Amino acid sequence: MSPVSGAVVIVGAGHGGATLAALLRQSGFDEPVVMIGSEPHLPYHRPPLSKKFGDPGFQQPIRPPEFYADNDIVVRTGVSVTAFDRPSRTVQISTGERIGYAHLVLATGSSPRRLAVRGSDAAGVLTLRTIEDAAALGRSLEAQGALAIIGGGYVGMEVAAVARSHDVPVTVVERENRILARVASSELSQRLTDYHRARGTDIRVGAIVTGVGEQGGRATGVELADGSTISADTVLAGIGAVPDDGIAHAAGLACDGGVLVDSCGRTSDPSVFAIGDVARRPIDDTGALFRLESIPNVTEQAKQVVAALTGRPQPEPEVPWFWSDQFDIKLKIAGLVRPGARIVHRPGKKEGSFALYHLGADETVHAVETANAPSDFIAAKKFISQRIPLSPNALGDPSVSLHEVAGATPVGS
Ligand SMILES: Cc1cc2nc3c(=O)[nH]c(=O)nc-3n(C[C@H](O)[C@H](O)[C@H](O)COP(=O)(O)OP(=O)(O)OC[C@H]3O[C@@H](n4cnc5c(N)ncnc54)[C@H](O)[C@@H]3O)c2cc1C
Repeated sequence: MSPVSGAVVIVGAGHGGATLAALLRQSGFDEPVVMIGSEPHLPYHRPPLSKKFGDPGFQQPIRPPEFYADNDIVVRTGVSVTAFDRPSRTVQISTGERIGYAHLVLATGSSPRRLAVRGSDAAGVLTLRTIEDAAALGRSLEAQGALAIIGGGYVGMEVAAVARSHDVPVTVVERENRILARVASSELSQRLTDYHRARGTDIRVGAIVTGVGEQGGRATGVELADGSTISADTVLAGIGAVPDDGIAHAAGLACDGGVLVDSCGRTSDPSVFAIGDVARRPIDDTGALFRLESIPNVTEQAKQVVAALTGRPQPEPEVPWFWSDQFDIKLKIAGLVRPGARIVHRPGKKEGSFALYHLGADETVHAVETANAPSDFIAAKKFISQRIPLSPNALGDPSVSLHEVAGATPVGS
């Protein structure tokens, strides 16, 4: 097929691809839009995969099937883009066809990091990224066998919570000295560790996995560097994700732990964009680039690319945020969690709810971690974007309203 004048070709039919295609049509873009996805499904929500994999409702399409035809969006599922050629502006797909583009958007996401230890290819060793992965985990819940989760990140802890709610014996093995070490404050890690342990999850920190035990090709457990063994019928490797930037790299785009983009989502080639888990992009005015794995992140980037493709002003920058559900705790985290912040604990209105405000040396809020505290989350997003210095004393005192906190003078205590 020869290059299609004006066409936007989107590689990846996940959250970013679906959002971008819909926003393009909503903004009146009337050139061809083609979305190519390697999974055999229309775009679906990934967050329920780790939160509801035990329920029949974990498969949630982002749009009803008719949406794409109704909006003149061509979707090719079950086919991969194997390469793209920048001089001729064509993508090569796994069927052998070539499709031309005026603009290409890479929304290829990321893939689970593979466990590189002996026995990791045994049956029963799973990762979690797709509908099929979640269905496999669901089957292991039904079987009620023990579950070992390698990696105490958000996905691992969400899976642990669901499994414990179904009375499955769960052990979480974390290499660092606390769960969520890279993404949460030590205060939040501790609170969540206590919460999970109180509900029967065995959490082992500072524990190095050296192998997966197997018998007849099936996993029997996890072996640790201290010589101990954890028996398990299912082993979930939740040790992070790597960006799917292989085709971008091969095409010569600037990549470094993801495809490098500017604040419009543009790569080092002006006719190629990248959004979502695969992209590393600027967030603040420091010029540092971040690769975030979250729905709000990919949605914001989709809006940026639509603005760039339709010649509209760029949207106002958003404060990055993320959510996670663990048991009855709805966590919402905004801003960038960095080491060294002063943490101010503010009790929430409901029993057990709280917000952890991360203050910098100038007493502005850099990040907030909230648990069942939606008003703190909303207020803190404003505090972060407006860079208002806050009094730590007032912030930590639940009798002082958030409105008053914003008006209070910092006392430097
Ligand atoms: C289990 C789980 C739970 C999560 N929970 C949360 C949460 O609670 N809150 C939150 O904010 N975020 C959550 N996330 C993260 C969020 O789902 C991702 O950040 C988001 O889906 C990223 O969108 P994306 O479009 O970049 O990638 P994806 O949605 O992963 O889509 C990428 C698609 O591209 C396809 N693809 C890759 N390469 C090619 C190719 N060469 N050709 C064609 N297709 C290709 C892939 O198969 C995939 O379908 C979760 C993720 C997972 C896995």
